[in-house]
Amino acid sequence: MTDGWRLVHEGAVPEEEPLCEALCTLGNGRFATRGAPEWTDDDGSHYPGSYLAGGYDRLTSDVAGRDIVNEDLVNVPNWLPLTFSPEGGVEIGDPANEILDVRTELDLLAGILSRAFTVRDPAGRETRVASRRLVSMADPYLAAISMEILPLNWVGPILVRSGLDGTVTNHGVARYRDLRGDHLSIEGTGTEDDGIIWLRARMKQSGLGIYMAARTSIAGIRGRASEGDRKVEATFEVEAAAGCSIHVEKTVCLHTDRDPALGDRMEDVLLGVRRAPECEELEAQHSIAWTTLWDRYDVEIDVSPEIELSPHSIQLILRLHTFHMLQSAGPHTIGLDVSIGARGLHGEAYRGHIFWDEMYIFPFYLYRDPELARSLLLYRYHRLPEARAAALDDGRAGAMFPWQSGSSGREETQIIHLNPESGTWGPDYSHLQRHISAAIAVNVWSYVEATGDLDFLESYGAELLIEIARFWASMTSEREDGRFEIIGVMGPDEFHEAYADADEGGVRNNAYTNVMASWCIDRAIESLQSLDEVARSAVEDRLALSEEEMEQWRAVIDRMTIPVMPNGLIAQFEGYEDLIELDWDAYRAKYDAIGRLDRILKAEGDSPDRYKLSKQADLCMLFYVLEQEELSQLLERSGYKLTKDVMLETIEYYRRRTSHGSTLSHLVFAAILDDLDREASWTHFVEALRSDVEDVQGGTTPEGIHAAVMAGTIRHVIERFAGFRMASGELRLHPCLPEGVERIRFAVRWRGVHVRIEVGPVRLAVEIPEGATRDVPIRVNGRVWRATPGESLAVEYSS
Ligand code: BGC
Repeated sequence: MTDGWRLVHEGAVPEEEPLCEALCTLGNGRFATRGAPEWTDDDGSHYPGSYLAGGYDRLTSDVAGRDIVNEDLVNVPNWLPLTFSPEGGVEIGDPANEILDVRTELDLLAGILSRAFTVRDPAGRETRVASRRLVSMADPYLAAISMEILPLNWVGPILVRSGLDGTVTNHGVARYRDLRGDHLSIEGTGTEDDGIIWLRARMKQSGLGIYMAARTSIAGIRGRASEGDRKVEATFEVEAAAGCSIHVEKTVCLHTDRDPALGDRMEDVLLGVRRAPECEELEAQHSIAWTTLWDRYDVEIDVSPEIELSPHSIQLILRLHTFHMLQSAGPHTIGLDVSIGARGLHGEAYRGHIFWDEMYIFPFYLYRDPELARSLLLYRYHRLPEARAAALDDGRAGAMFPWQSGSSGREETQIIHLNPESGTWGPDYSHLQRHISAAIAVNVWSYVEATGDLDFLESYGAELLIEIARFWASMTSEREDGRFEIIGVMGPDEFHEAYADADEGGVRNNAYTNVMASWCIDRAIESLQSLDEVARSAVEDRLALSEEEMEQWRAVIDRMTIPVMPNGLIAQFEGYEDLIELDWDAYRAKYDAIGRLDRILKAEGDSPDRYKLSKQADLCMLFYVLEQEELSQLLERSGYKLTKDVMLETIEYYRRRTSHGSTLSHLVFAAILDDLDREASWTHFVEALRSDVEDVQGGTTPEGIHAAVMAGTIRHVIERFAGFRMASGELRLHPCLPEGVERIRFAVRWRGVHVRIEVGPVRLAVEIPEGATRDVPIRVNGRVWRATPGESLAVEYSS
């Protein structure tokens, strides 16, 4: 039961709670808290986790006699606890109670999580409870809960408890539980004269301090405080009358050592909570902040009933995706020196690390908030020294970015991995996915292309591109036939970690990696050409880049190895054609879900390395990331001719051998099948839409949302349905609405101008607000128009 703005969950079935909690996470790009009910602990069904953007810590664990170091996005003290019990009774969450008529509602427009239910205790006392929660988008240090407690059939004293709980650990992902999760030292808890409670914690290795204070108010009643070693609590005794509701407000202020310091941090946090307005006012400010964000980010879609999804409409899912992206990173993230973890700030999977998923996510921000996009790029820029050191350690030049990145930018990928299918640990070679550096270059380049920000290019972008190009050039070695090759890497397809029976990880000449290496080198050279002479020589001098070095780079592009199979199609990697065909039908018949064929095959004592199969788009990524023309040109330079027919044949060949074990794969195939098979393209798009809201992988979303799929579906609507691009000083539209999609509306921010775009079946409209300082050139299917401030430009088009 939903409209386009509300995600509603009825009931409280323990197995459904983890997903509901992840999807009901509230955050503001600085911190986020899962949607667990206020009275719950980590109990196997509930998991009230809270995470800070950039809040990482490392611990060493003993696994099978080995010291394993892991960096986690730390579950910080729980600020939610708020519960009550009638005198002599038990608290809400006690198993002796019955919880009835639960309705949880996430209001995306206002950014409010509300929950209503009736609790019946063993003595038959029934109480109706309604709570509202926010993590402020207006003041990124504040969060609040308001609760109405209405005794339905009883009167008498009631005890309300409000706390801050530092006993939490990282315990949210079952397969990590053999590893340590005790990241927090609690340095102190306390109570102030005015009843405010506080807690101070510190992460053990990173030393990051966390300062929390909570103000709880119930109709002027003073609470009694009790301080424990790791928790602090205020208790209130209230006289409950039947039919009269008790109104409780809890406001929390959270600071960390990563925030700008104005004074003593504990003082700041106490002041912050004292000065915070009451919940009604907080909600009003929060709602204004969300309205501003929606104005910029909302993607509206009208679809015909035939293609509508149920129970969640396409519109609702797109908004849910936008909502969670803005909570993972939004205006309050700017300047925090963080990027976006693959699983948002919504859970502990992948330990909050940052992957190449950034490449799927980036345009979501780039189109609407270039300043935020720039800030995300700077996260990588600030970690260049670490990437340079990693390259050096590996005997390379330039910068080698880590497959999984956290606080410092060093490699955070595990070296062993638990297969939940078999319960055994095996080597993890995924750090060999050196293509991560190409993803960073793609983002840098698309930022510069979209914004024309040459200052950024001169100060940061060119350096990133050049160091990445240097790295790729140093990864290549010249073969006897004069071709350059890249060995010992993994492509995006994580099923092929190595050649079967090889002692070392990696494959030879993964085509995606090789072509992207050439592309990066080409862009590095082009970036220098985009700068004026002064800027260019400043960059060249700073990086000691010579014409000879660039000559060598050009040779690498011209003689890059492109592995080709006997059928004339590009091989995913060298030797791919020698692999065995998998009996897909047999595996489909034998297993309910075959997305993770790697785990299935390994549990059977076999290895995916032996088969022609892919976890996700690998070679086909080239068609997703690069424009067809630039890809053809690049391949042609290396001696391979890619015609449109060959491209379609290649897509068809690999799609038949892909299990889509990563949600990313659906995004890619939805996009690249656009021309080839529109029905299949739509099916993949729908699968991407359903990924998180229905937890299609069966258990991964509760551990955190899939940020790339969320941002990627929004991109898909903008880039594929509207054919939108920002490049070369103009906005481009090439609309192609799929059957059943009647209209889409979205806004973009281009060089300081707020541009509204509406695409219908044969007509599109572009609106620039009154007072904008410039016209906006819009190219529709090749023809350029100018949209002027205060006017609506309407263009008829044919797709
Ligand atoms: C995918 C990777 C992705 C990672 C994080 C893995 O399952 O194979 O491509 O980067 O998840 O989302």
